[in-house]
Amino acid sequence: MSNDAGKEMHRDEPMLNDPIKKPQAGDYKLNIVHLYPDLLNLYGDRGNIQCLRMRCKWRGIDAQVTECNLDDKLSLASADIVLLGGGSDREQQIVCTRLQQVRPELRDYVEDGGTLIAICGGYQLLGHYYDTPEGRIKGLSLVDLYTEQGSPRLISNIVLRNESLPDSNANALSSVIPDTLPAAAAGSQSSAIPTALPYEIVGFENHGGRTYIGNNMPFGKVLYGHGNNGKDACEGVLYRNVIGTYLHGPLLPKNPHVCDLLLQRALNRKYGVSLASFPALDDSLEMAANRAVVTRFHSPLAP
Ligand code: GLN
Repeated sequence: MSNDAGKEMHRDEPMLNDPIKKPQAGDYKLNIVHLYPDLLNLYGDRGNIQCLRMRCKWRGIDAQVTECNLDDKLSLASADIVLLGGGSDREQQIVCTRLQQVRPELRDYVEDGGTLIAICGGYQLLGHYYDTPEGRIKGLSLVDLYTEQGSPRLISNIVLRNESLPDSNANALSSVIPDTLPAAAAGSQSSAIPTALPYEIVGFENHGGRTYIGNNMPFGKVLYGHGNNGKDACEGVLYRNVIGTYLHGPLLPKNPHVCDLLLQRALNRKYGVSLASFPALDDSLEMAANRAVVTRFHSPLAP
């Protein structure tokens, strides 16, 4: 388990440590791995991949997407962002056997500061187990959490806020993000970029599982909806450069700041460069969609 800066920087050319050099087209490449889309693909997880790809493309960052299906051999040696999507209990049961086989690869990737987003069924599988009336689905134990099925299903639009989540929307906060960051920061418990997500996170949730994250940091506080378990007003989990969340729908197109958070972390780990060095994107349409959900479901007057 290493967050050694030297190790990270030799993965690609070290030129990006130079804060004066501005990004040039073709200088940067991110490898995105979509894990088991043949099984874990509920509610538009592919839309999240599309969003990551397009936000790279618009900035001149080359994004390569690799789909790793159930029978494919997994290698995360050159992975920069991994997505594990949602699935039904039945699909989770099938995929969990495979996940146990690739667990060492995934654990090393996560502990090395790799960026990973796991959604709904995938989020539950990050933890120790998911208990259902049909039996226990064994998880990856990458994050200290567990899930138990309850009734009724927790189905709702959902609005979150996380004012303390480090990292940022590169567009909105470019002035406060340093051009280069210490590479060692990428693997710290929560990243060291001292800025907050400026906008609410919106999505849709539909899960029978109730997830308990112990002392881990949640992805956000629930302003509207159910969240992890309908009781503690927490949603999702943050661990190193991992985000686990029940939000799908898909999540990233309506929350470009979350998409940029993933890109920021991946770029920082691989190149030591900030997303703020790249051209700002016009997110007015995306944020109008985000604000429409916030306004509809969360009254600004509510506590
Ligand atoms: N099968 C899990 C549950 O119902 C996750 C569902 C999902 O991914 N939407 O809790």
